[in-house]
Amino acid sequence: MSAPLHKARPAGQGRVLPDTQQGMRRRNLSRVMHTVRDEGPLSRAAVASRIGLTRAAVSTLVDELIRAGLLEELGPERPGRVGRPGSALAVSGRGPAGIGAEVGVDHLAVCAVDLRGEVRARAVRHVANRDRSPEPVLGELTGLIHRVVAEAEDEGLWPAGLAVAVPGLVARDARTVVRAPNLGWLDTDLGPLLPGKLPLTVANEANFGALAELWLGEDTPRDFLHVSAEIGIGAAVVVDGRVLHGNRGFAGELGHVPVWPDGPSCACGGRGCLEQYAGEEAVLRAAGLEPGEDRVGLLAGRAEQGDAAVRRALHDAGTALGIALTGAVNLLDPENVVLGGALSGLSPWLLPSLRSELARRTAGPSCPVSVSALGPEGPLLGAAHWVVRGVLDDPAAVAERG
Ligand SMILES: [Zn+2]
Repeated sequence: MSAPLHKARPAGQGRVLPDTQQGMRRRNLSRVMHTVRDEGPLSRAAVASRIGLTRAAVSTLVDELIRAGLLEELGPERPGRVGRPGSALAVSGRGPAGIGAEVGVDHLAVCAVDLRGEVRARAVRHVANRDRSPEPVLGELTGLIHRVVAEAEDEGLWPAGLAVAVPGLVARDARTVVRAPNLGWLDTDLGPLLPGKLPLTVANEANFGALAELWLGEDTPRDFLHVSAEIGIGAAVVVDGRVLHGNRGFAGELGHVPVWPDGPSCACGGRGCLEQYAGEEAVLRAAGLEPGEDRVGLLAGRAEQGDAAVRRALHDAGTALGIALTGAVNLLDPENVVLGGALSGLSPWLLPSLRSELARRTAGPSCPVSVSALGPEGPLLGAAHWVVRGVLDDPAAVAERG
């Protein structure tokens, strides 16, 4: 089962299939897909023994998945073995693909990921989106989506769905951006502004980043906090392998946790929020630098050269992150905290003060803080893999559509 982002989601994604014969068949199709994807190439017999069904039952399911183009046969397995050789099965490198997209404050990105988890096409454009209305931004994104889809189609793939990561709060319908302060967007349904034919899921970038960590990271625990930043700071709370949404779907707004209650006022209406100390622009301000295009590159470059003002600004940002995370860690007791997104590129200078602040203030043994290997790619990959997981979780729904 995938970890649902929202209660509302496209057909087939993470839903509980009915306990009927049809439901059973669909669940078993999904179990075959997951088994072959996680452990393949495997023979039919090996799949049968792993999921505890008869070889005949598995053969029927496998044939259906091959006909739908979701599995493929690689030819005889282990020649020379006694008896009829089984043909090894693998997840198809053609067929459905997940299209992931990301709207950043200063970039747009799209990628296509196949069922094996390989990125097969991608497009990135650096563009200043701050205070630009949604229509031109999503028009440009749509252009990139068409380009990536065309490239994927040339390789025998077809788009199974589109998932879009945004730096803002998303309503439970998984389409409407309620508030994206750094873009200046309010109550915008992205559906009519994006290619209409694809099933659409819109979610906060931190949530997709966390799912990417869960699905693609090494030894990621089932309970963790994922913190990511661009200009804003977002977090996702993952509990038992699922993203926690909160009542309205807005959980994880770490950037607006007050660090110093009387600090500078924030766009959210509060004062002294974490974003005012550890957001990229706040750090640049504190270091006396002008916000330019490659903010993280600029900060990392200066810090590496030993620029004292930049190092101090990053040390203070780490302290602020440590204070804000103390509240979350004490409240939720996660197994670890993962720094992802742009923050991961600044971790050498953020981590020491962050860790010591967190250790000093948390009640129990200190919570480990690690750095995401996915870095700024996390949200985009998480979005594309969200669609792929939907296919693996209910291959029958996709086979019917394809
Ligand atoms: Zn705030």
